[in-house]
Amino acid sequence: MAKEQLECSFCGRKKPETNLLIAGLDAHICDRCIEQAHGIVIEESKQTDSGDLSAELKLRKPLQIKEFLDQYIIGQDSTKKVMSVAVYNHYKRLLQPTTNDDIDIQKSNIIMVGQTGTGKTLMAKTIARMLNVPLAIVDATVLTEAGYVGEDVESILTRLLQAADYNLEKAEKGIVFIDEIDKIARKSDNPSITRDVSGEGVQQALLKLLEGTVVNVPPKGGRKHPDQKFIEVNTENILFIAGGAFDGIERIISRRLNMQAVGYSASISDDVVDQNNLLQYIIPKDLKDFGLIPEIIGRLPVLTYMDPLDAETLRAILTEPKNAIIKQYKKLFTMDNIEFSITDGALDYIVDKALEYKLGARGLRSLCEEILTDAMFELPSSDEKKLNVTKMYAEDKLSKTTLKKLKAVS
Ligand code: ADP
Repeated sequence: MAKEQLECSFCGRKKPETNLLIAGLDAHICDRCIEQAHGIVIEESKQTDSGDLSAELKLRKPLQIKEFLDQYIIGQDSTKKVMSVAVYNHYKRLLQPTTNDDIDIQKSNIIMVGQTGTGKTLMAKTIARMLNVPLAIVDATVLTEAGYVGEDVESILTRLLQAADYNLEKAEKGIVFIDEIDKIARKSDNPSITRDVSGEGVQQALLKLLEGTVVNVPPKGGRKHPDQKFIEVNTENILFIAGGAFDGIERIISRRLNMQAVGYSASISDDVVDQNNLLQYIIPKDLKDFGLIPEIIGRLPVLTYMDPLDAETLRAILTEPKNAIIKQYKKLFTMDNIEFSITDGALDYIVDKALEYKLGARGLRSLCEEILTDAMFELPSSDEKKLNVTKMYAEDKLSKTTLKKLKAVS
């Protein structure tokens, strides 16, 4: 009798009708059924993903959110606290049951003011990572009002869709970080016919997104694909975090504080004002005086500031966060079986140079890169299995010209 022909235990196809038949303990499965099953697994996981947030929030109260941020971000306690509450409330709002009490929890979009390199982007990234939601980082300077040269405001949502792998449901609960929001502040004396440099038009266009609306979004972005189908994205539950350096806003704050000190309503008298960190006294009116329109300020109700980075903070940034720069180099060298160490003297030297050349936290990475490039080039193919970076070694690798070059690019 002919040997019984093997078949897929799911669809019954005989072996010759399949491209592949995989054997299990007592059953077989063909390539088609594998693909189908895979599709089902993906669909299922999409559904459980949307339940993730509520589980997250049950798990993480504001205190736990801050503890998570502490693992990756040094200092900035005030912003961490404000962010933890804002993020917690935002996602609580998403989960609010529809009740008849007429109380509608409003969005808690956030605006962060602080010099570049103080960790604003890192803050947004860390929150998105914690919540496992998609994050789009966009630069406000490339945005223009529709019809001008540059990107339409809708392109922000194209990015978010891309970050969410075009899963609309996920994108609609994502986070958008708008960097350099200060660059679209109103400046009246700069007329241009090709680019809306005054910024006010962009601010107006952003308003709609911030408050929550349904936007037709070209999935591939741009106007180069005229016949692409639009995707309707509802921005109601998207958390917007804006950040900017607001260069010169200290003057506005200082002027206001001085005026207050003269009047009777002085709340902060001169002797307690910390002149080195005026941003901590920022209020929404200062943003208005800087050139943001009141409507935008109203749609970004949570205002917070970043502290400037001092030597101690920079030193901690090098070594302490979960994925600190020095830890990353250590890992890279370990992969080549090279034991990497760096002395306190060398770390202090790097911090000194970052401060001296005003390179900020971003400069730390470039400085380390300059110091270690030679070693990373040579050691993997040599017999040397140890590298100890001392202050002398670092000095030797960082010539004046390198430092000047770094300053120029930062
Ligand atoms: P910003 O958005 O304010 O310009 P970033 O978040 O891009 O600054 O920071 C630049 C880099 O500096 C980050 O990748 C991070 O490695 C480091 N950094 C800045 N501030 C901090 C901080 N407070 N804690 C840890 N790392 C920081």
